[in-house]
Amino acid sequence: MAQSVKGMRDLLGVELRWFQHIEETARRVFGCHGYEEIRTPILEELEVFKRSVGESSDIVNKEMYEFTDKGGRQVVMRPENTAGVVRAVIQHKLLNANDPVLLYYIGQQFRYERMQAGRYRQFWQIGAESFGVATPESEAESLLMLHSFLTELGLKRLVFAINSVGTPESRPAFHAAIRAFFAQRSEQFCADCHRRIESNPLRILDCKNEQCQRALAGHPVITEYLDEASARHHARLKELLTELAIPFEETPRLVRGLDYYTRTAFEVLSTDLGAQSALLGGGRYDGLVKHLGGPDVPAFGWAIGLDRLAMVLQQIKTEADAPSRVTSTLLIPLGDRAATAALQLARTIWDAGLALQLETRGGALKKAMASANRMGIQTVLILGDGELDSGTITVKHMASGEQESWPLGAVAARLAAQ
Ligand code: AMP
Repeated sequence: MAQSVKGMRDLLGVELRWFQHIEETARRVFGCHGYEEIRTPILEELEVFKRSVGESSDIVNKEMYEFTDKGGRQVVMRPENTAGVVRAVIQHKLLNANDPVLLYYIGQQFRYERMQAGRYRQFWQIGAESFGVATPESEAESLLMLHSFLTELGLKRLVFAINSVGTPESRPAFHAAIRAFFAQRSEQFCADCHRRIESNPLRILDCKNEQCQRALAGHPVITEYLDEASARHHARLKELLTELAIPFEETPRLVRGLDYYTRTAFEVLSTDLGAQSALLGGGRYDGLVKHLGGPDVPAFGWAIGLDRLAMVLQQIKTEADAPSRVTSTLLIPLGDRAATAALQLARTIWDAGLALQLETRGGALKKAMASANRMGIQTVLILGDGELDSGTITVKHMASGEQESWPLGAVAARLAAQ
């Protein structure tokens, strides 16, 4: 029997309903903030990711699904969505009118990752990007949107970890300080950090190796090396987050390594599952649009893993909170005459915008009732010859086992009132 490809899974049942609930909440909240959806293709040219995510990153080096298509093009199944969105806004010249452009996306991403719990090779991300605004106010607006989204979903214990990585111009001073710090204790760092200190020194700060994290005690703090404008920007963002009562923590080891990242970098952590874990990350990437061939336009954005969010919600919510099937009513006709009448009755219910599932297999009531039980149906409507003759329908409430009779003409109204 064929199985799904390793690391790729089918979404169905309760888990998919959580996904849909999260997606609907995202669309509603982001829409209220003036963000519009964008859907970019799954395949992009290899160059798009090499230039944006960066040739030195694990994603580009080890994790991309890349291949040559039948026309000889080198293409990649997107490992993330920001690069595609930036490519699209440049291609469609959305940034030339000097207006802000606010976009969000919901889509599957592909990374050839080593398998571990909660990590998949096809996974989903929801993200928002704002182009054309460089202010700390735009960041506060985006973080507030994120905060509303997560609290509406029911997450309570959130912390926004924030840092500033300055600008490419102010960074050399920090690079010099961190290299000097490293040189004094270089034997305590891993081989990767030895490579990073040359190519991308900021990245030693977020090395996952515990020994490196210990060796970093007392490291120079990047926010003390900011240029004046970046320092003002950072102070203003903190002031706004305080005003908005968004809980945040200054986090000096939170960095993004590439040159086009500027100023604010952030993650959202949640302790809803006990131990603190990162739900998402993002930041300001003022240099990326230009780097990918577009105008010199500032940008800010973030991406959240939908699989992980759905997992957290499934764990913190009770079964009763789980989004249920759209319909919890089943109409069972008995006999040919009732089968025709049931289709007509169901049509009036569907046309009224109400939900109802129709049993169309024919056959015995017992079999249909057993299915209703397994599907979690709450109300069963039974239509047989006797009911048709008296112009009624038999209604069985599954939880209580109670039975009653409704006039046929009142079914839609009674269902609407349920
Ligand atoms: P990144 O694009 O690596 O910054 O990841 C942003 C978010 O996407 C993470 O916080 C995760 O929740 C999610 N994510 C990244 N990689 C995977 C994966 N392989 N499987 C599931 N979720 C992922």
